[in-house]
Amino acid sequence: MAKAKPILSASTNPKDFVIATIGSHSALQILKGARDEGMRNLVICKKGSERPYQSYGVADEMIVVDEWENWNEKIEEELIKRNAIIIPHGSFIAYIGHERVKKMNVMYYGTKDVLEWESDRKKERVWLEKAGLKLPRVYDTPEDIEKPVIVKFHGAGGGFGYFIAKTAEQFHEVKDRKYPHENDFVLQEYVVGVPLYIHYFYSPVTGELEILSFDKRYESNADSIGRIRAEDQLAANIHTSYTIVGNIPVVVRESLLPEMFEMGDRVVETSREVCGGKGLFGPFCLETIITRKLEIFVFEISARIVAGTNPFIEGSPYTALKYDVPMSTGRRIARDIKQAIEQGRLEDVLG
Ligand code: ADP
Repeated sequence: MAKAKPILSASTNPKDFVIATIGSHSALQILKGARDEGMRNLVICKKGSERPYQSYGVADEMIVVDEWENWNEKIEEELIKRNAIIIPHGSFIAYIGHERVKKMNVMYYGTKDVLEWESDRKKERVWLEKAGLKLPRVYDTPEDIEKPVIVKFHGAGGGFGYFIAKTAEQFHEVKDRKYPHENDFVLQEYVVGVPLYIHYFYSPVTGELEILSFDKRYESNADSIGRIRAEDQLAANIHTSYTIVGNIPVVVRESLLPEMFEMGDRVVETSREVCGGKGLFGPFCLETIITRKLEIFVFEISARIVAGTNPFIEGSPYTALKYDVPMSTGRRIARDIKQAIEQGRLEDVLG
């Protein structure tokens, strides 16, 4: 499907623009970040979810919709009228849907070309392999399983229903008993190590790749199982699920940083060849598992701001090194947009 062309303004005054996003996920820091950079902001909330945006006083303006389904031309018109620039986040894409996002005429920070590459597991793998990253092995059929795999159902909201199998028999036993009708899944090598989420930022304005912060996730009930004895785990018949509840900041072993910068560089470089268009820019996250041998396996990429950056509204230890103001990812986005506008290069940061 052809991508809509954003309606561009020629103004070089950031105050003529409004940073807009949907009220969820990482909207608080996006809104605050816009303000901190001296820009106006707007939040679109689903009825019933306005409270945090009012309570924390971060929004200059609020548009309330009954259902995301009602996201329509009228809302877009309102946004276009205000010279709004949409900042996509995970919930934004989930609520609005890739297809509608591609068709939107309102200005959109980031590249839409990458959307289909990160949403399709096969395409994502082609991209990340090309970037020379280490990926968990994928088995084509259960009969190929030769070491523990994590069985991921497509569209499983937040990792619910994932299970581990060591053999084909084990796989069929669990699958037939619990998920007889689910046939869209991937069998991924289960990597033993610690999950770590690397928050990158690549600016087409400065041409620089930054690492802004790291997090690990607080997942229910994967993070609660270890609190009871193995016998009790069996007795309680607890299912491992990875429903995300919150995020915890992490500072990494410093000697891992050089490799992590290189990984980010390669992902950005290959995105231009693989995904086309302007390639990947703005915030993105490599979701990794790091083994005891310090091998970094990447199991997923998010090509936009991730909620794991939320602990760093006042900046991270890393942004404190680089910036003389508290720099959140939300603020970094606003600064990118502001600099692009001032330099008459707005188009460079729009997808
Ligand atoms: P997301 O929720 O970002 O889509 P996934 O659904 O791919 O992430 O994974 C959910 C959780 O499962 C992750 O937080 C991670 O702890 C774990 N996980 C995913 N893939 C693997 C893997 N190959 N090996 C070990 N653990 C994994």
